[in-house]
Formats: sequence, C-alpha cells, structure tokens
Amino acid sequence: MNLKNSYPAIVVGAGPAGSAAALTLAKNGIETLLIEKQREVGKDIFCAEGISVNTLNLTKNIFGIENPEKFIASKIDTLRIIAPDLDYFEVYKDDMSVVLERKIFDRTLAEKAAAAGAELSVSTKFLRAERDNGRIKIEVLKDGKVHEIFTDLLIGADGPGSAVATSLGLNMEVSEQDVHKCAQFLVYDEKIPSNRMDFLFSEKYSPTGYAWVFPKGRGLANLGVGVTVETNKDPMDYLKTIISEFYPNARIIGWLRGVVPVGGNLKKIYTDNLLVVGDAARLADPATGGGIATAIISGKIAGEVGAEAIKKDDLSEKFLKKYEKNYWNEIGLDYKISLILKDYLKNYTDERIIKLYRVLKKLFAGKNLQTLNLSELFFNSVKNSKEILSLLLGSGGDVVNSLRKVIF
Ligand SMILES: Cc1cc2nc3c(=O)[nH]c(=O)nc-3n(C[C@H](O)[C@H](O)[C@H](O)COP(=O)(O)OP(=O)(O)OC[C@H]3O[C@@H](n4cnc5c(N)ncnc54)[C@H](O)[C@@H]3O)c2cc1C
Repeated sequence: MNLKNSYPAIVVGAGPAGSAAALTLAKNGIETLLIEKQREVGKDIFCAEGISVNTLNLTKNIFGIENPEKFIASKIDTLRIIAPDLDYFEVYKDDMSVVLERKIFDRTLAEKAAAAGAELSVSTKFLRAERDNGRIKIEVLKDGKVHEIFTDLLIGADGPGSAVATSLGLNMEVSEQDVHKCAQFLVYDEKIPSNRMDFLFSEKYSPTGYAWVFPKGRGLANLGVGVTVETNKDPMDYLKTIISEFYPNARIIGWLRGVVPVGGNLKKIYTDNLLVVGDAARLADPATGGGIATAIISGKIAGEVGAEAIKKDDLSEKFLKKYEKNYWNEIGLDYKISLILKDYLKNYTDERIIKLYRVLKKLFAGKNLQTLNLSELFFNSVKNSKEILSLLLGSGGDVVNSLRKVIF
C-alpha cells in the first residue's frame, strides 16, 4: 500500500506499546499510520515472554481478545526463588502467570490495531524526524526509497534506545545501573516442569541481576541471565555456566541477546507533538525488567491523550503532559515498590541477598498466595519485624529513602 504524505498521527514500532497506542487512536476515530521496520510483526522478539495473569486480562480487555490460548505457551502456578547458596522456597497461586508465544502475541495485537482502522506498514524503517511549521516531518525507508511524511502527533514506540526520542532531542542519558544486558537460550530439557518459573539470585551466576527459567511446555524453556551494563561482563558466559552446572543435558534450540532499560525512565516522556511509550521511554519495571505491561498501559494512555489533543487541536507540551500524569497515576505505586527492591539490590552481594531471601522465605515459603490474606501477612510481618527492621536499616539508607518516597 502506498504511504500518504500526511497523517494526523504516526506511531513508530509495532511492539505491544505501539499496537496499544495505534489501536486506541484508531478507536477514537483518528487516522493513524503504524510503521514497523520488520517485514512481519513479531518476527524478531527479545523476551523471556512471561506476564502475570493480571496483565493477560488487561491485554484481553484493551484489545478485545477472546481466544488468548493461541498465544499462551504455558500456565504458571508455582514460583521458585533460589538463593546464592542454592537454598530455595516456592509460592503457589492458580492463574499466577503465563509464558507467551510472543511472536503470535505481538502479531495478534498489531492485527487488532489494524482491524480497528490503523494503517499498518511493515518493512518501513523510521530514519529521522524534525519540526516543521507546528508539525513533525519524518523520513522513513520503504521499498528502497526515502519517504517524507508529515504528522501532528508522533508516538515513539520503537523500543530501547529510541531513534524517535533521540531525533527530537529528548534527554536520553542513562546510568549504567539502569540498563540490563541479557542473554537467553531457548532450551529443550524434559526435566523442566511446565508450571513453574525459577528465579536465581547470586553473585556467581547473575551478578547485579538474576537468572530465570520460564517454561514453554513440552520440555521447552527460556533460560536467561541479565546483568547491569556497569559490570562489564558478558551475560552469555554466566548462561553457559548455568547450563553446564544445572542443565547438562539441555539442547539449545535458539538464543538471543538484548537490553532492558530498568528504572531509568526518560526525564521527560512528552514534548510538543511527541509522546514516547514503552521501552522507548524506559518504562519497564525497575526490579524485574518486565516491560510488556507498562508498554501496553503507556501505549493505551498515550493513544487516549493523543486523540484528545488532536480533536482539541492542541498538540502543545502543556496539554500532552497529561499523558505523563495519567500514566503515573495508573502505575505509580507498583513502580515505586519495585524501585524499593531495586534500591535494595544496588549493592549486590550474596550476603545482602541472603538477608532479604531469609525474610521473604519466612513470610511466603509454601504459601498459596490465593489464600494468603492481608491479616496473615500482617501477622507474619509483625512476627518477623526484627529481621525486617534490621534489613531496612542495614540497607545503607537506600530502602528507607525509597520507602519515604512511596509514603510521602
Ligand atoms: C532478554 C529479555 C527478556 C525479557 N523478558 C520479559 C518478560 O519475561 N516479561 C516482560 O514483561 N518483559 C520482558 N522483557 C521486556 C520486554 O520485552 C519489553 O519491555 C517489551 O517488548 C516492550 O515493548 P515495546 O512495544 O515498548 O518495545 P518492543 O517490543 O521492543 O517493540 C519495538 C518495535 O519497534 C520496532 N522498531 C524499532 N526501531 C524502529 C524503526 N527505526 N522504525 C520502525 N520500527 C522500529 C521494532 O522492530 C519493534 O517491533 C524482556 C526483555 C529482554 C531483552
């Protein structure tokens, strides 16, 4: 299909964030172009593919998905937390999480955006953008040719290191502690149970981060490691050690490397005629690095505010600030709680992790989260309050400071 030379709204990147933004704009009657550089949406995925059932339900509601089974690889009811000394505990909950087939997931979301009326253009690479008389002019590469297209609202959903945000001068500075580099194998090992996610925290196997096993059923699993850029270490080396020590019979079906921006969201995620969403705005959860939920939520809110701005003919940064405000209203508390955990893990040592691990084990080991009620949690916390207090005070003030930020 030929591209027009002007659209009220253009979304760059058809990942979860971009599809949510394009869907919402289109549903609000805004003519929207959604461009994707890959020749097929979901072709190259960099992800361990785990989401909570809450996120799955949110996605179903936003996108109107009736048969999510087609993109669910496995259902998780058990979480195993493994300490540096390899002691572990488990918690249980029916309908806790799912591991996705993200290729199908991403494609389904883009299909829904297209079905809502967004014009999807694959094999279309965003090159650069500049301001032009109150609008934005972008250049894209398609069919070997550079096309100029004008728009009132540009949404950057182009993932980590966003070319869109860079092009329009948003501050992209990031601390090395706030970027995790990851390596992952897709493995086959018939011993891997299909209902349990494992998280391993250890200086030896995953310094400054964690290792994960997310099963995909039939003996398949995503097995990965993430470490911060500041370590100067290659996560692939740790992954190979884990495989040889714990899964010597695993067969490697595929591999990937990727980066996750954790907890260093852009200083500003909006400006005149521009909104930045998902990983492009570095909105992934600071503690876990999970970014699918925040991508979809930020995309949806950007779509809502963007549509309102276009209808009111006010694309000023003053109006678009509403996107940031609405986003933090929706996500704020979860994000702040994750920041507390991230702050605690800043000075990552086995000793520090074991302290936290022991407290969590006392509170949660063997519990069914479905039946664990607030009063039981409160009672257990009081019972273990000495340990919790010494953990908070022994954290060098980081955690106390973050708690203060959450409370006030
Ligand atoms: C190893 C690893 C494991 C992870 N595991 C999990 C997990 O288990 N659970 C979870 O919730 N999150 C996980 N994440 C994070 C998650 O993958 C991201 O947060 C999520 O994909 C963000 O969605 P997005 O739409 O913002 O960006 P993306 O999914 O990155 O989508 C961006 C899209 O923009 C396109 N694009 C980029 N540049 C251009 C351009 N110039 N022109 C046109 N199109 C362009 C890309 O091709 C892509 O389709 C993981 C990340 C990594 C690296």
